[in-house]
Amino acid sequence: MTDQKQAFHAPDFGRGKAIAGRIEAFVRNQVIPFERDPRLGAHGPSEELVQQLRDLARQAGLLTPQILPDGSHLSHRETAWAFRAAGLSPLGPVALNVAAPDEGNMYLLGRIATPQQQARFLRPLIEGRARSAFFMTEPAVDNGAGSDPSMMQTTARREADEWVIDGKKAFITGADGAGVGIVMARSEHGATMFLIELPDPAVQIERIIDTLDSSMPGGHAVVSINSLRVPATQTLGDSGEGFKYAQIRLARLDSRTVCAGLEPVPAPMKSPHNMR
Ligand SMILES: Cc1cc2nc3c(=O)[nH]c(=O)nc-3n(C[C@H](O)[C@H](O)[C@H](O)COP(=O)(O)OP(=O)(O)OC[C@H]3O[C@@H](n4cnc5c(N)ncnc54)[C@H](O)[C@@H]3O)c2cc1C
Repeated sequence: MTDQKQAFHAPDFGRGKAIAGRIEAFVRNQVIPFERDPRLGAHGPSEELVQQLRDLARQAGLLTPQILPDGSHLSHRETAWAFRAAGLSPLGPVALNVAAPDEGNMYLLGRIATPQQQARFLRPLIEGRARSAFFMTEPAVDNGAGSDPSMMQTTARREADEWVIDGKKAFITGADGAGVGIVMARSEHGATMFLIELPDPAVQIERIIDTLDSSMPGGHAVVSINSLRVPATQTLGDSGEGFKYAQIRLARLDSRTVCAGLEPVPAPMKSPHNMR
């Protein structure tokens, strides 16, 4: 029994640590020197800096390391090692193409999109040639969906072979400059996801929100969607299944989850409340 357990765990652990070792060396030697680059602004690195970093990762054979050449993914454990190493620099995840929202979007498209949708929307993301955004959260001032996506106000109305989408979204990471979007809206069947190409005149960036984060390209945007027409062939999965797909996407590890979960939990800091 013990031998079986060891046989099950050993290869997974070894490959993940090997990839993590290469990523750590890459981030320390090639990414960290860019942390003071003037192209890194309050709302993230410029597109030029992103592409420069990704070129370096590509040359090192480390771009999108979580997706293997046959389209399969590293296991969760291997992914955890890889993402922790990427997170040694705030620019590491975006350089390696393992950052949110792209990583979760790629994972979701790999699971749900049709082969045609994957060729058009997923391939450029895996190759690091395009960025993506996930449009779910809505402004609280409009009673929109935040923690509770059942409050979704954005609508998708069917007209012949198209959907017509209207609504407003908030905190949409990377929307400014993205080439691919996944929009969540309420259709007659319930929450539904749609694949869109960006930029589109019907999708307007209203403003970029000031946040503590400065590592995500495009920052975090408030976006209005006005009569966006999406061909029915760009429905992601089935109409009404959006919550199920959101669980697939959100349950995915990302570099932030990994950083929080891999290390032993440190002893509580001493504060005025626990200094006894
Ligand atoms: C930096 C950043 C990037 C983001 N990127 C994206 C993105 O790319 N795409 C996207 O769609 N969204 C994005 N978000 C939005 C994020 O998903 C939401 O902030 C999150 O879902 C919480 O929603 P909210 O901010 O509206 O908070 P609220 O829903 O208003 O919740 C506020 C607080 O109340 C609590 N609460 C809410 N409802 C209940 C309840 N019924 N019972 C008990 N407690 C409750 C919550 O736990 C929370 O602590 C991003 C947010 C940030 C800060």
